[in-house]
Amino acid sequence: MLLIDCPHCGPRAQSEFAYDRTLDAIVQLAMVPSDAMTTLYTRANPRDWSDELWHHRSGCRTWLVVRRQTVTHAIESVRAC
Ligand SMILES: [Zn+2]
Repeated sequence: MLLIDCPHCGPRAQSEFAYDRTLDAIVQLAMVPSDAMTTLYTRANPRDWSDELWHHRSGCRTWLVVRRQTVTHAIESVRAC
């Protein structure tokens, strides 16, 4: 289980958060709206660092950008967006 350090609430268990998508996917949706379904269902799954959008649904309800290593699940940074 991941421990996500919310900037408002402090370290909390992953179960309090909801993963949404990577920031790359959001940028792609904004750039090519007609191809939104393809972007949603054919996402890349890189083995690298990834900037992801998470929602602290059982806490402060803030949307966060979590920089996470997709192989080790190490978290480098968490910031409010
Ligand atoms: Zn929070």
